[in-house]
Amino acid sequence: MIVETWLEPVKPMLVTWVQPKDWQLLSSFERSLSEISHDKSKGQPLQAKSLLASEYGMVDVERKLGGLDRSPLVQALIQFICGYHDLDYRDVAHVGHGRMIILHGSQRQQKLWMPKLASGSLVGIAATEAHGGSKIQATKTIARKNGGKHLLSGEKVYISRIKEAAVFIVFFKFEKDETLSAALIDIARKGVAIETWEPMGLRGWSWGKVVFENTPLTELEVLGARGQGTAIFKEHFVYYRPMVAMTTLGVAAAVLDRTMDHINQRRARRDIAEPRDTCLESVGHHCAAINAGILSALCAVVQNVENSPNSSLWSRMTKAWSVEQAYHTVSELALFMGAAGF
Ligand SMILES: Cc1cc2nc3c(=O)[nH]c(=O)nc-3n(C[C@H](O)[C@H](O)[C@H](O)COP(=O)(O)OP(=O)(O)OC[C@H]3O[C@@H](n4cnc5c(N)ncnc54)[C@H](O)[C@@H]3O)c2cc1C
Repeated sequence: MIVETWLEPVKPMLVTWVQPKDWQLLSSFERSLSEISHDKSKGQPLQAKSLLASEYGMVDVERKLGGLDRSPLVQALIQFICGYHDLDYRDVAHVGHGRMIILHGSQRQQKLWMPKLASGSLVGIAATEAHGGSKIQATKTIARKNGGKHLLSGEKVYISRIKEAAVFIVFFKFEKDETLSAALIDIARKGVAIETWEPMGLRGWSWGKVVFENTPLTELEVLGARGQGTAIFKEHFVYYRPMVAMTTLGVAAAVLDRTMDHINQRRARRDIAEPRDTCLESVGHHCAAINAGILSALCAVVQNVENSPNSSLWSRMTKAWSVEQAYHTVSELALFMGAAGF
């Protein structure tokens, strides 16, 4: 059990935010996910998400909006469990980008989208453009006034969940505005075209390009206020990055356990006498690094929960470091399994 092995050491440090009832929830989530993942008829990510939605889909959402009102720390631990089972399960038990609707949606938007979020619908984010996602302010996706409404045109690339998402939060500028805005746009709307791309690595959910061509947009679909896009984006990713970090660290922990199982089986069969020192050194190094990553990601979540001025910095650092560490762990430890690791 992952909760009793990998997550046990952090228990005493999280008592302020993670209560005994939360640890029970985590254990029951782990059992449910394990059952689902072993059942071929239920184990696809989208099916798993809808099966888990009613109990685990809105763990850190307020009760008045239909959630369980638990801390984001609990959600971060859930992400680790998801990653441990399968990186493709990264979206099966959270509201993900839907959190922006929860925090900034108008009453009308929440009325429309909250029931869908509660039943496991996904919310996508369409921010990146071909000129470079790190320059989101330089968006070329523009809403131009046309009579009483606006028409949105532009192209967004590398967009995840492109087929599965029920709605997209699109970042753009109103013509003549200096600042970004965000709006909720249903992909099935007239004037929206998608192109799916086959990823080389990360799978589980679709991804690709969205093209807006004179897509009608009303002010009622703007998320938050006009011009608030950058603030919404930044605030959301302070929350979201440590969740990504915890998911990838879960993957790394699973590869480490799988590697040790493989070595122990070879030892039991007397295929090898003992694991080499260099192998044990490497496993020890990665085990320490994964634990350091878990501490750093949970610390980033705490910084955000406590509204610390350093929360953005922590969130960026922990994601960058943890994803890279998980990549190294998977690349280096899988080699100890030889061909089986591939
Ligand atoms: C798996 C995956 C899923 C994604 N899902 C989504 C999604 O759902 N929605 C969405 O909107 N986007 C998504 N993205 C896109 C992601 O957010 C972008 O990759 C990110 O914003 C960085 O943008 P970019 O890839 O265009 O890189 P760029 O901004 O082009 O940067 C590329 C490299 O250039 C460097 N660089 C930038 N400026 C300079 C400079 N002046 N000098 C030197 N180096 C520089 C950067 O540091 C970086 O290393 C996804 C990406 C991945 C990999």
